[in-house]
Amino acid sequence: MNADLHCHSTVSDGYLDPSALLRRAHANGVDLLALTDHDELSGVADAAREAALLGLRFVAGVEISVSYVDDTTIHIVGLGVDPQNPALLAGLARVRSGREDRARRMADELERIGLRDALEGARRFARNPEMIGRAHFARHFVASGLMPDVNTVFEHYLARGKPGFVSHEWANLDEAVAWIRGAGGIAVIAHPSRYHRLSSAALDKLVADFMDAGGEAIEVVAGAHTQKEVLRFAKLARKRGLLASRGSDFHGEAESVVDVGRCQPLPPGLTPVWSRLS
Ligand code: AMP
Ligand code: MN
Ligand code: MN
Ligand code: MN
Repeated sequence: MNADLHCHSTVSDGYLDPSALLRRAHANGVDLLALTDHDELSGVADAAREAALLGLRFVAGVEISVSYVDDTTIHIVGLGVDPQNPALLAGLARVRSGREDRARRMADELERIGLRDALEGARRFARNPEMIGRAHFARHFVASGLMPDVNTVFEHYLARGKPGFVSHEWANLDEAVAWIRGAGGIAVIAHPSRYHRLSSAALDKLVADFMDAGGEAIEVVAGAHTQKEVLRFAKLARKRGLLASRGSDFHGEAESVVDVGRCQPLPPGLTPVWSRLS
């Protein structure tokens, strides 16, 4: 069973439109795909239509930006959500609505260090104007020749502590999980290895808070995880009785190490989250 339950389209910061993404997933042997754009569900209708044409199983998904303790941003994926659910749609619209102001503040900070017109530049890369984010700024700086690749742009300008980083209030954990569950979905902690700001004790606390809120799953296999991290989070999932997810977090060939559908399989002794997806 080749399930890929985390990837992005042009509706957020992916490179392929939803239909093209589905065709790539099918060509790569994916049996079950979830499209999980950041804070946005407007790609799932096209994705579902293409999936039906290809005969590929598809579930609607979303990756919600969440502010957790000490101004740490974490990502919560929702799988199998009803893309028409009014409370979920309203919540996501509220989260998206902060992005424009954040982008302006980022551009102001970048201007202070002499990088002018970054907002106009970033806008050219944001196919969905409501979803402007750091990846679009990064692509602008690569295209303008300032930096060789997006990773280097993040390292120099966009990561926490760098000149273009501004702190921002996203959704809170409880409401993000509630929106997902209220829409009939399963909440998943995305790429847990990426939360470098959380100590191991703080990560345990996040898992506890997440489960108290009604969260049920964690990404054990993720594009960003090393083999060691896969085993670490497999152990955590078994210990806490969390369902295990698998997702490439594919954005596009230019930026992703792991292609859609090309993650390693889940380690043994786990309950795959897709056993609960119809
Ligand atoms: P935002 O939601 O605007 O904060 O943007 C987060 C997105 O930026 C992530 O989903 C990735 O697509 C991208 N991103 C974050 N860190 C990096 C990095 N170090 N290198 C490349 N892309 C990154
Ligand atoms: Mn992204
Ligand atoms: Mn993420
Ligand atoms: Mn993602």
